[in-house]
Amino acid sequence: MKIGIVGGGIAGLTAAYRLAKAGHKPEVFEASEQLGGLARSFDFAGTKLDIFYRHIFTSDLDVIDLIEELGLKDDLKWLESKMGFYYNGVTYPFSKPLDILFKFKALSFIDRVRLGLMTVYLTKVNNWKKYEMITAKEWVIKYAGQKVYDVVWRPLLEQKFADKAGDIAMTWLYGRIHSRIVSRKGAGMKEYLGYMKGSYQKMIDALETKILSLGGMIHKSSPVSKVIINDGKAEGLKVLGQDLKFDAVIVTPAPAVLKKIVDFKDPEYLARFDKLGYYAAMDMVLRMKKSLSPVYWLNVADKQSPFVAIVEHTNFVPKEWYNGDVIVYVGNYISPEAELYKADNETVKKRFFDYIKKIYPSFDEKDVIEWKMFREPFSQPVVTKEFSKIKLDYKSPYEGLYLANMSMVYPEDRGMSYSVMLGNKVAELIVGKA
Ligand SMILES: Cc1cc2nc3c(=O)[nH]c(=O)nc-3n(C[C@H](O)[C@H](O)[C@H](O)COP(=O)(O)OP(=O)(O)OC[C@H]3O[C@@H](n4cnc5c(N)ncnc54)[C@H](O)[C@@H]3O)c2cc1C
Repeated sequence: MKIGIVGGGIAGLTAAYRLAKAGHKPEVFEASEQLGGLARSFDFAGTKLDIFYRHIFTSDLDVIDLIEELGLKDDLKWLESKMGFYYNGVTYPFSKPLDILFKFKALSFIDRVRLGLMTVYLTKVNNWKKYEMITAKEWVIKYAGQKVYDVVWRPLLEQKFADKAGDIAMTWLYGRIHSRIVSRKGAGMKEYLGYMKGSYQKMIDALETKILSLGGMIHKSSPVSKVIINDGKAEGLKVLGQDLKFDAVIVTPAPAVLKKIVDFKDPEYLARFDKLGYYAAMDMVLRMKKSLSPVYWLNVADKQSPFVAIVEHTNFVPKEWYNGDVIVYVGNYISPEAELYKADNETVKKRFFDYIKKIYPSFDEKDVIEWKMFREPFSQPVVTKEFSKIKLDYKSPYEGLYLANMSMVYPEDRGMSYSVMLGNKVAELIVGKA
């Protein structure tokens, strides 16, 4: 079968690899000149670096399996992470349960116990469905108290979802806490995270090589403007003004893109798209002479902050991988309509630098060797209550048109492993059908 795939991110490339391996002829069309989507890399510090901060959890089995299958196991390093939490002008250690219990003075001892119990309880529960009908805000206030919500979870939800924070389903928070806790080991519950030496670009390059060697095709700088539908069946793609015929089509970008390129008729199906919103992400990557702190991941729980996290990548992986320089990501999730998202790079840089200085007064712009800014409009699905009712299925209302986008990994939150899963599953469906 000839299968046209829209999007050369992890989901699209995994699907193409599986289909080519099964003897089909996949053709990937990627709008940008580069493969990888949200997981792509850029040249920095004499090597490749992911455009956004990046690690995997030990529970991310689909991507770990793929990495091994592609022969890249030795490049995947498991390293201890150090977390911090910035609240009200103070940076607290936030890596291990004992840090939180004894050092997180932003909460009273009783509230710290409540926070700990809430986390332990959620890791023991194996039924996400019970969290569909309640928002994270309602659940946390009810079971851990207003103070725990106000100090820890409200700022984190607001930083990720801004004015939608109060609408986010508890399923989302449950999934986040679950995946983090299973990555912990030993009596001290240290957290180990995975990083691919040389960036995850290695996995993307390996997928590209495999797809091509198995007879698949990849077209970069090739935005798809239409999925051609005839008599209720997907028959091809319109790419750069040309009509191309396919036996089946897979669309991997966000629902907003899907709605633009497919002419869906059913009003009920179309109505779902209004609720399938995404938030954007933006980050600044810095190469510096000096380290900011010993922390890898600093959650910044302050509404005034223009970013949600400072991620000192070289406190996680060795500086020697970057010729001894320090690599720092400063990142934010934001509405694509927000003024900061649309502001020019210099304006954003100034706001980011001013706030870094507030957190780390010793920060000096002169120590920044170079910096880069990235923005992606479709970065984080906004998961509201009863999301399973609007979630899209792999099979669309049209015969031969298959979907595989990040919002479909619900009840999980988006991540590379879940995009590998999307690619695996959609390919399995098509192979089964063929
Ligand atoms: C800030 C940030 C940090 C993250 N950190 C992590 C992390 O630490 N660990 C982790 O596992 N995951 C992380 N993720 C999530 C991970 O990057 C994504 O889950 C994954 O890369 C999504 O892959 P995808 O193929 O499903 O979608 P995408 O990467 O969005 O791929 C869709 C592709 O479709 C293309 N496209 C769009 N429109 C068209 C069109 N009309 N024609 C052709 N092509 C089109 C796009 O250019 C894109 O390449 C992070 C994401 C963000 C935003």
